[in-house]
Amino acid sequence: MKITVIGTGYVGLVSGICYAELGHDVYCVDKDAAKINTLQSGGIPIYEPGLQRLSLKNMDAGRLRFTTALAEAMPEADIVIMAVGTPSLPSGEADMSYIEAAASEVGAAMNGYKVICVKSTVPVGTNERVGRIVRERYDGPFDTASLPEFLREGTAVRDTLHPDRIVIGTDGSRAARILSDLHRPLTNQIVLTDIRSAEMIKYASNAFLATKISFINEIANICEKVGADVIEVAKGMGLDNRIGGSFLRAGIGYGGSCFPKDTKALIQIAGNVEYDFKLLKSVVEVNKQQRFGVLDKLGKALGDVRGTTVGVWGLAFKPETDDVREAPALEIIEQLIESDATVKVYDPIAMANFKRTFDHPRIVWCDSALDTAQDSDALCLLTEWKEFAAIDLGAVRAALARPILIDGRNVYDVQRVREAGLHYYPVGRPGHE
Ligand code: NAD
Repeated sequence: MKITVIGTGYVGLVSGICYAELGHDVYCVDKDAAKINTLQSGGIPIYEPGLQRLSLKNMDAGRLRFTTALAEAMPEADIVIMAVGTPSLPSGEADMSYIEAAASEVGAAMNGYKVICVKSTVPVGTNERVGRIVRERYDGPFDTASLPEFLREGTAVRDTLHPDRIVIGTDGSRAARILSDLHRPLTNQIVLTDIRSAEMIKYASNAFLATKISFINEIANICEKVGADVIEVAKGMGLDNRIGGSFLRAGIGYGGSCFPKDTKALIQIAGNVEYDFKLLKSVVEVNKQQRFGVLDKLGKALGDVRGTTVGVWGLAFKPETDDVREAPALEIIEQLIESDATVKVYDPIAMANFKRTFDHPRIVWCDSALDTAQDSDALCLLTEWKEFAAIDLGAVRAALARPILIDGRNVYDVQRVREAGLHYYPVGRPGHE
């Protein structure tokens, strides 16, 4: 099939490259000329393991092209996939301006029947809106379809090539057949449904996962007070098939470009139809508070944070990505600076992105994990990169001015940290007395 993907961000780029890997002819379009230049010259503008190899392979095979000109990419397409951003507006609602602009451009470039899919996460009713916008500029045949995306940054290639399920929302059998044919090689678990339900499945899935995270984080907070170990609790819970073990890792809460914005958007979507989504509001509130547990522990361990030097390991919102959107590190570091601390930071991949998002004279940008620990009064682990888990804790202890390790992601074995002579403050587990 011939596929045009609009938007070469984390979703569009991975999807486009993976469709090419399946043997389809793919044209990826982005307004950002710098991204397209990088892609055309064989580079990848984001960090995503395995992506560059697949991109080069499929470019060489002549199945994958990149352009800034939608008019060039559209004429031959059977399927057009919109994967532009839908960031939060200050109200919490999703900003539809990129989708609307892309739909209008698609309308102008239509030249025959195509399935126009929305892969971006969008409020219920958006596909109908996209259809109306296209119709204003094109009076021939087309179908719209909701094709929500469930990939996770860091494992995006694997998630795309081996998905748990594919959800396809259509209102016509022709589009359903074309999109089923496209995705059948990936999985037998294809959920064919109506457009509005497909749009809702995406929000409901993310809201549920966020709920699991906030739930286990509250359990962790109680564990700290009653002397239980949340890792044991999560293990014992997760072995129950009705519960499942994933997303039961206590820590400093979720971040990233999806959960924070999608939970807020769903609260707004509910509010627009006069439904007060109380549970999800609490999930968001719990998540907001959870990251500050690191600061409480620091205050307890240091006595006073003012005038101290605090090392921070991990800036990305999770490991294996350079994405710092809504990363807990942003607010934690901001608070530390407000409390008059100097903050030494290190992340294996996300330093440049973080610096573009937030810079301050009190931030010291370090070259390595140990350099960050050197002469710091305490160390806070905020992202569970493998490099931090594997580090020689004896060397860390030797580098630190005071032996304080706040583990926001429960990476270490308590015994191992104690043996290294560190005072350990994990989340929801017995640590330093
Ligand atoms: P992103 O910001 O990384 O990428 C969006 C891209 O679209 C940018 O490169 C931008 O330049 C481009 N763009 C915007 N308008 C355009 C237009 N008119 N023509 C061509 N290009 C245009 O966003 P993302 O993280 O890939 O997310 C895209 C959507 O997918 C969002 O709705 C998001 O919620 C959803 N989603 C994201 C993830 C994730 O892990 N990032 C997972 C599932 C779903």
